[in-house]
Amino acid sequence: MVTYHGRGIPAVAANAGATVRREGEAVKGRAPGAGDALLIVDVQNDFLPGGALGVPDGDAVIAPLNAALRVFGVAGLPVFSTRDWHPADHCSFVGRGGIWPPHCVAGTEGAGFAPALELASSTVVVSKAVHPDADAYSGFAGTDLAERLSAGGVERVFVGGLATEYCVLNTVLDARREGLEVIVLEDAVRAVEVEAGDGARAIGRMRDAGAAFLPTRTAVGGE
Ligand SMILES: [Zn+2]
Repeated sequence: MVTYHGRGIPAVAANAGATVRREGEAVKGRAPGAGDALLIVDVQNDFLPGGALGVPDGDAVIAPLNAALRVFGVAGLPVFSTRDWHPADHCSFVGRGGIWPPHCVAGTEGAGFAPALELASSTVVVSKAVHPDADAYSGFAGTDLAERLSAGGVERVFVGGLATEYCVLNTVLDARREGLEVIVLEDAVRAVEVEAGDGARAIGRMRDAGAAFLPTRTAVGGE
């Protein structure tokens, strides 16, 4: 049996129809299949502990994301990885009146993806905030991510990365605006918490926008 959904893309029949319920919410627990993509947000050296703009416990996202990468890799499903890719005089930096220390300057080690993140050569890298005078928290802002997802027939994205209340939040909200179903891998995000509670408030906004939150193992299966 092949189950069709959305724009006529066949889902993986063996995984179709499963439902996962947690604390009163019912979400589709269909494991990754056709029409799905993994979207990894800004898992870059500068955002890891010890980096120029380290997110507390940020390296904890790597293990669950690697588990998701293995599932998507085995299934031959698309993987997108966004990155801040700033010029040295970027407007978000304190030297130009921004709120952040210089970080993720294009071509530097700090801008590199975490070496422990097991990205395959087929991963599509999406560089954002590449112009001096424009910042971009969302992987959709000023990039061709929406077009690439659409061209690949993607209808649902599994999202994890850094940081919860900035680039993950804005990427998820834009994904919902693009009409994509979104599952946030809840153990694969971490918050900066400039103000205590920022992460929780961001999670509330993403839920309000229709994003589902699941542990990676529940969302993707695998070992
Ligand atoms: Zn930045």
